[in-house]
Amino acid sequence: MADLKSSSILIIGCGTWGASTALHLARRGYKNVTILDPYEVPSAISAGNDINKIKGWADNDSSGGGVDESYVRDRVSQEATAAWEEDELFKPFYHETGYVIAATQEKHVKDLYDEEQPTPEKGFVELKSAEDFRKTMPEGVLTGDFPGWKGWFKKEGCGWVHARKALEAAAREAQRLGVKLVTGSPQGAVTSLIFEDGDVRGVRTVDGIEHRADRTILCAGANAPQLLDMKDQLRPTAWTLAHIKMTPEEVKLYKNLPVLFNVERGFFMEPDEDAHELKICDEHPGYCNWTTPDHSVSTPFSKHQIPLRSEKGVRLFLRETMPHLASRPFSFARICWCADTPNRDFLISSHPDYPSLILGVGGSGHGYKHIPVIGQYIVDCLEGRMDERFRKVWRWRPETAVGRDGSDVQGRMGGSYKVLNLAEIGEEEWTKIQYDHAKL
Ligand code: FAD
Repeated sequence: MADLKSSSILIIGCGTWGASTALHLARRGYKNVTILDPYEVPSAISAGNDINKIKGWADNDSSGGGVDESYVRDRVSQEATAAWEEDELFKPFYHETGYVIAATQEKHVKDLYDEEQPTPEKGFVELKSAEDFRKTMPEGVLTGDFPGWKGWFKKEGCGWVHARKALEAAAREAQRLGVKLVTGSPQGAVTSLIFEDGDVRGVRTVDGIEHRADRTILCAGANAPQLLDMKDQLRPTAWTLAHIKMTPEEVKLYKNLPVLFNVERGFFMEPDEDAHELKICDEHPGYCNWTTPDHSVSTPFSKHQIPLRSEKGVRLFLRETMPHLASRPFSFARICWCADTPNRDFLISSHPDYPSLILGVGGSGHGYKHIPVIGQYIVDCLEGRMDERFRKVWRWRPETAVGRDGSDVQGRMGGSYKVLNLAEIGEEEWTKIQYDHAKL
């Protein structure tokens, strides 16, 4: 391993997984690591640049797929949980506040039960009435009628993480340990990989500079298909989030709340104590931006507004849970891109045709909470010592994407219960939040 540790390693993207990879390379003693990103950390387009993300219980990623898939999802979740609890770098950002999970339609309540097995032995308490839901939080927080809601509350082993701060900490620590960060455009914006002699020898950036390296690791999230033909294994899909400003008194009342997530309506966690903002995500199968007539290419773009139909979803969620906040204006909103594989398992593999290229992609809507450990797996892959079952589940698997149906909801619910096309949403169908642009 001595040679590999002094070889040149280039990481494309300093978002959630790129920062984690840089950190773990540095922790293992790699000496010559460079990471490129068109934005300063935290990147404005990183899915991890967010005030919070859900960290579910250790085994709640294990629905669907076979024995190996369940094993891999459970293992990575358990290791991430241990790291949030024990790794001094990440510990400050984990809030073990508990988690309320719910659904509205009877069949979805049943599906949720079958998936999560929320039994009392595992620490779940059943919630059957509006009063049951309201009692999971201090008086005055949940004032809604929770029409048709059924769910479960789990107090321990789950909660939320401060995503942006943990991402910044990982990148900062990697840098302290010697990783070179090249951020901003043009110098950090990769335009293409350098393909030579049947391999990848590094990348070119917008300023025309060639960054040659012994190994290249692609961690560009939803933008990865713009740099490499992913054979339809990644579908860039956007979800939507909105913030509302809370008063300092409300922030105090809303402290240490469990996460509340209705799989058909949306979710929220406690307000951010720095900006005093409450983030709400409406739940739906996502928006693609189809830029080819056959809907084979979805191209991410950045926007600090959300479609009006998502605003409606957020306000419906608020009316059912916290009607006293339901008409408060949004202080911030954005679309946020992630890349789904066909079965929503990650894609962490060397490339079969380009031996020096490693892929760390396919976050599939649940890749943030693994930030403390995901880089370890990507480095294991680089070192050719990934556990056999991980190698199988996270492999390069274009055969699973042949004839892929871009409109597949992939098990997600809510909204119109369909994947919608951003290209069909007119300019007047977006929110019109006014910003002080200096702050964006
Ligand atoms: P990103 O974090 O998006 O990073 C990609 C990086 O690549 C960015 O920094 C970008 O600037 C950079 N890049 C792009 N193009 C280039 C280029 N040309 N050159 C160089 N660099 C480039 N997960 C959870 O675990 N819990 C949650 O509650 C949760 N909620 C979510 C809510 C929303 C609305 C969304 C969209 C996702 C959510 N996720 C959640 C999923 C999670 O955020 C992602 O799986 C994870 O952040 C993906 O990490 P990534 O590193 O692959 O991508």
